[in-house]
Amino acid sequence: MRIGFVGLGAMGAPMARNLHRASLLAGVWNRTQGKAAALAAELGCNAYPTLADLAADCDVVGICVSADADLREVVAGLSPGLGAGKIVIDFSTVGAGTARALHARLAAGGVGFLDCPVSGGIEGARQGTLAIMAGGDEAVFERARPVLEAVGRKIAHLGPSGAGQATKATNQIMCAGIIQAVAEAMAFAQAEGLPLERVIDTLGQGAGSSWYFVNRAPYMAKGQYPAGFRVRLHEKDLRICREMAAAHGARLPVVESTLAEYAALIRDGHGDEDISTIYRSKSALFADADGKPGA
Ligand code: NAP
Repeated sequence: MRIGFVGLGAMGAPMARNLHRASLLAGVWNRTQGKAAALAAELGCNAYPTLADLAADCDVVGICVSADADLREVVAGLSPGLGAGKIVIDFSTVGAGTARALHARLAAGGVGFLDCPVSGGIEGARQGTLAIMAGGDEAVFERARPVLEAVGRKIAHLGPSGAGQATKATNQIMCAGIIQAVAEAMAFAQAEGLPLERVIDTLGQGAGSSWYFVNRAPYMAKGQYPAGFRVRLHEKDLRICREMAAAHGARLPVVESTLAEYAALIRDGHGDEDISTIYRSKSALFADADGKPGA
């Protein structure tokens, strides 16, 4: 099986390296061509001149680009090289509607399309331990399994096209609520004058604990938010969640309030910090009430 990989960003480049380790990678393409040339030189694989060349030379194409319009652009570029029996796997986080539309368009030419958004961050991409939420035809999913196993650990087929993106959106809504709750609680603990490290150690074992509390409350205690999951990316995902909920006639309070807080953080120059930076706005609530400056 020959795999071509498109989109060599923070997630895509380490995923391509893991495909190379599994002896599956034929070559790569990236919009900024220097990145593709550098990775191809490192791995000894092809740097294809065009998307169509990559598609023509490969059985499976993996994609990891930023957002819906970018994915549509990439698939349009691949199209002249795609043919019956080939598979396109999209690892980006986009709307379920975009995934369904691409699945239908490619199916007309006998090309399989799987929506396979991932969770696990840059660390998971590097270690090949991503959780992969797949949507699409089950037979295509089974054929693509060796590719998915090269980049992920927990791999699940959730249903027809769009089910993977809907599952990812479900996760992003949970992340929004949990990071808000953790930041609000930590700002409260700080205002109460509690020893924050001991609070984290103790409550980390309690019923209110979560991955975010254990791993991100320490950032809040230090007032440092190193790049992890950027506010900008989560904001993009929550706008997808908003649109998907609106299709059901629903408006979700957790999504809306997090989007409002993120808009303010981005405006104030914190869009590229980890989402735990939301602690800034939560601690400002106490500073305002106490008449003191914010954290
Ligand atoms: P990133 O570092 O910003 O990389 C984005 C990649 O997409 C780059 O290779 C970029 O090319 C390419 N790209 C963007 N627009 C394009 C277009 N119109 N045509 C062709 N290529 C285009 O982003 P990332 O962190 O790898 O994230 C990629 C996807 O994974 C996103 O959907 C994100 O939500 C999702 N995700 C990210 C994480 C995370 O922790 N970072 C975790 C889970 C899921 P250039 O090099 O030319 O800019």
